[in-house]
Amino acid sequence: MPELPEVEVTRRSFADRIAGGRVLSARLGKPLRWPLGCEPAHLAGRTVLGVRRRGKYLLIDLDDGLLLMHLGMSGSVTFSPDPPAPGTHDHFDLVTTRGTLRLNDPRRFGAVVHAPAEDSPVAAKLLGGLGVEPLGPDFDPQAFHAGLRGRRAPIKQVLLAGDVVVGVGNIYASEALFLAGIRPTTSAARISLPRATRLHAAIRQVLAQAVEAGGSTLRDFSNAWGESGYFQLQAMVYDRAGQPCRVCGRAIKRLVQGQRATYYCTGCQS
Ligand SMILES: [Zn+2]
Repeated sequence: MPELPEVEVTRRSFADRIAGGRVLSARLGKPLRWPLGCEPAHLAGRTVLGVRRRGKYLLIDLDDGLLLMHLGMSGSVTFSPDPPAPGTHDHFDLVTTRGTLRLNDPRRFGAVVHAPAEDSPVAAKLLGGLGVEPLGPDFDPQAFHAGLRGRRAPIKQVLLAGDVVVGVGNIYASEALFLAGIRPTTSAARISLPRATRLHAAIRQVLAQAVEAGGSTLRDFSNAWGESGYFQLQAMVYDRAGQPCRVCGRAIKRLVQGQRATYYCTGCQS
C-alpha cells in the first residue's frame, strides 16, 4: 500500500512538470472508490497551478477548484508527454498540454474527486479528520505529547489512526517506535514528554529517510512499489520476525494489533 513517503515521492515526480499545463480532456475508466463529482468535460480548459500533498491525498490545484487524488491500496501514477493507450487498470487520465497524468489502480480503492475549493464540504469530508503533517512545521513535540495524553489505546494504534499525526502507516510506525525505544503496546497516554519527544524525532527521521530513498529510485518508481519495497530492505524491525535485532541481536517479535502486524524488539523497546 502506498504510504505517505511514496505519495510524497509521487508528488515530487510530476508536480513541477504538470504545473502550468492546461487541461485538454479527462478520461474515466471503471468506477473508483468515490465518483469524480463532475463531468470530465468540466475539467477541460482549466490550468494546473501545482500539486500539494495532505496526508496521503495529492491535491492538484486548478485555476478553478482542485482534484483530490488518493492511491488507495494499489494505485500508482505516471506522467508522460506521450502515454500508451490506456490499459485495463488505467482508470483516470488527465490530459494536459504538458503531458498526461494517469492513475493505474488494479484494486480500485483509489479515487480522484473534484472539489470546488479546499474548504468545500466535499473536500472537508475527505481532509477534515486528518491530523497534523508529520514533516510540516506544525508537528512539534509538545503538541504531539498533548495529543497522546488523552488516549489510552496502544501507541502503535494511535499512530495508525492518523488523527494525532497523519500518514504514519504500518511500516513507519513500527520503525519509529523501534528508533524511539518504545514498545508498540504502551498506552499512548502513559508516554512521557521526553519519550514523546524521541518518538516525534523518530517519526520525522523514518519518513524523511523513506522519501530520500524513494527519490533515488524515482526514474524506476513504478517498480519501487513491488512486494519487497525498497524501504523494507533497510528496515530495523518491519517484516523481520525471528531475525536478530540489528542493535542487540535478540529475535524480533511479531504481534497483531488492530489486525495489523507489528514488529518490535524486546531488548531495545520498553
Ligand atoms: Zn534490539
